[in-house]
Amino acid sequence: MIISVASGKGGTGKTMVATNLARSIGSGVQLLDCDVEEPNAHLFINPSFEESQRVFMPVPAVNEKNCTYCGKCADICRFKAIAVVNENVLVFEELCHSCGGCWEVCPEGAIQEGGRDLGVIEKGHSNGIEFIHGRLRVGEAMSPPLIKKVRYYQNPAKLTIIDAPPGTSCPVIASMKGSDFVLLVTEPTPFGLYDLKLAVAAAQILNIPHGLVINRCDLGDSKTKNYADEMNLPILMEIPFNREIAEAYSRGEMLVDVMPEWKDMFLELHLKIRHLAKLEAKH
Ligand code: SF4
Ligand code: SF4
Repeated sequence: MIISVASGKGGTGKTMVATNLARSIGSGVQLLDCDVEEPNAHLFINPSFEESQRVFMPVPAVNEKNCTYCGKCADICRFKAIAVVNENVLVFEELCHSCGGCWEVCPEGAIQEGGRDLGVIEKGHSNGIEFIHGRLRVGEAMSPPLIKKVRYYQNPAKLTIIDAPPGTSCPVIASMKGSDFVLLVTEPTPFGLYDLKLAVAAAQILNIPHGLVINRCDLGDSKTKNYADEMNLPILMEIPFNREIAEAYSRGEMLVDVMPEWKDMFLELHLKIRHLAKLEAKH
């Protein structure tokens, strides 16, 4: 089973929920931090990393000795990532989507597959949890290929929990796609509600069952709960604002370690998710 933990906006406590859910279930869990632009789940899970690998994305490497400057590579590229100008072939790697069209179409075999450094994948373990995250190279703008690489290591024999990036754009879709359940973490504020609506729309488009965790539930207003009622969205957990929780988080400590009574609540959250995912699967 794959559970994605997402949020329309940053700072809602998404990573806190993902890491504490993983820690509460423990052995047999795989936690993938797909927030590759700012991975921080490792700060809480504290894994010992055993493996690290750089990830490269295929981009064209042109050997101009063989090039006749026919322009066929530039004609086929819909991303304008390759151009032929005055007997020069220019490659704009940051625009390239690695479709392979240019090296397929080149009549002279002048284009080979080069590689653009996307970042690094690191794998480790902590208390029975298998942990994998990606770290996007500083200056790299395209995160979905690195997210897909992190997800490549999903193990169907395990419960996979994905810490998705915040927002509702391509990186989030790449993280949520194919999940059995999306857990949306929100807070009861106008900004939280606005972004929650976008995140709900994304889960609906992907046709993935979803439910809410409301963090700092005793602050803000009642509009989030009213929206959940209107949309028939199950509220699966509410976390009150609590100084002890906030301080533990700021020290990089797990909620279930500092306040062990929360472990049962996260285990209950897991059971609710399983139940809802199973109900949806029957429909
Ligand atoms: S398609 Fe090949 S030969 Fe033609 S311009 Fe591009 S690299 Fe040169
Ligand atoms: S691989 Fe595709 S996107 Fe990249 S330069 Fe070639 S045609 Fe354009």
